[in-house]
Amino acid sequence: MESADEYHGSCRCGQVTLKVKGKPLITMACHCKGCQRMTASAFSLSALFPQESVEITGLEPVIGGMHGELRHHFCPHCLSWIFTRAEMMGPLINIRATMLDSAVEQAPFIETCASEKLSWVTLPARHSYAQFPPMEDFQKLMSEFAQTTG
Ligand SMILES: [Zn+2]
Ligand SMILES: [Zn+2]
Repeated sequence: MESADEYHGSCRCGQVTLKVKGKPLITMACHCKGCQRMTASAFSLSALFPQESVEITGLEPVIGGMHGELRHHFCPHCLSWIFTRAEMMGPLINIRATMLDSAVEQAPFIETCASEKLSWVTLPARHSYAQFPPMEDFQKLMSEFAQTTG
């Protein structure tokens, strides 16, 4: 089915811009200590997309956070955390949902690392994982997510 969904977004200073086509594969909140520190907040919000659905223009993002298999990409000027790529995830890109103008209206479908959650935080996520979901759960989660978003 053709989808007309197109989300635009940018970092805080606007010098890195994003254009995303189609719906996310899944939306997530991560409560891990690393996300708490990198967001300076209680959790991170993300929307997972196939690499080919995402167009990044403007300044070249730089690596911050983790520099290994998991790489966090930041605006070189305002240092907003814009997206994450992981070798083991293949051709997927995990956009920080708060960079996008409208995708953030979608509540996180799953929450991860709930064992590190700040005690006062309660999210409406459909599925909660104490750590990260096992890789084999992702296909099931993504098809369930697709059904809920139509
Ligand atoms: Zn910026
Ligand atoms: Zn995290």
